Amino acid sequence: MEELKQRILAEGSVMSNDVLKLDAILNHQVDPQLIMRMGKEFADLYRTEGVTKVVTVESSGIPVAFTTAFELGVPLVFARRKKTLLADPDSLIERVPSFTKGIVTDIMLSRQFVTEQDRILFIDDIIANGDAARGMIRIIERSGATLLGVGIVIEKCFQSGAQAIRDQNIRLDSLVKITSLQDGQITFG
Ligand code: 5GP
Repeated sequence: MEELKQRILAEGSVMSNDVLKLDAILNHQVDPQLIMRMGKEFADLYRTEGVTKVVTVESSGIPVAFTTAFELGVPLVFARRKKTLLADPDSLIERVPSFTKGIVTDIMLSRQFVTEQDRILFIDDIIANGDAARGMIRIIERSGATLLGVGIVIEKCFQSGAQAIRDQNIRLDSLVKITSLQDGQITFG
């Protein structure tokens, strides 16, 4: 997605050889028009696949998962990051390390919203080592739903997450691939 590459170059900042700060377009502020176009890209890839629900993890995956769900005309379900007192006891929970925060969090999805009949498109913002995505994939598998594929806005190809998921024979599409952040330079694949 050429437009997204230009926005990353203009508004992203390289924090280290591993981390790209994207608060201006993904993680703190979002441009609704850009997010709508991202959702359309994902929706176009899955329009004929019979998606019944789009699933993401709060919080940064929500805007693009929302526009994808809107384009496909299906509900969006977002996994919660922490079990609250109001949570359904019949929830699916996985523990995942957080790449940017350096902590471990539980992600939780109520069985009420994802069932064996569902055909799921899982959308997320960025993939690094793939821990968040693996946790979500395990939850979807445990729900009995069919995982049609994973749509990621930004794939950092120099970390192992996306490839490990493809190696499990799970479809994974990304809108932009970054092959390196070495020496403060963003290189696209
Ligand atoms: P993973 O579980 O794949 O290692 O990391 C995925 C999550 O960590 C993403 O949902 C994203 O929020 C965050 N993350 C990973 N790498 C980066 C990065 O380079 N920049 C930002 N802003 N977030 C990242």
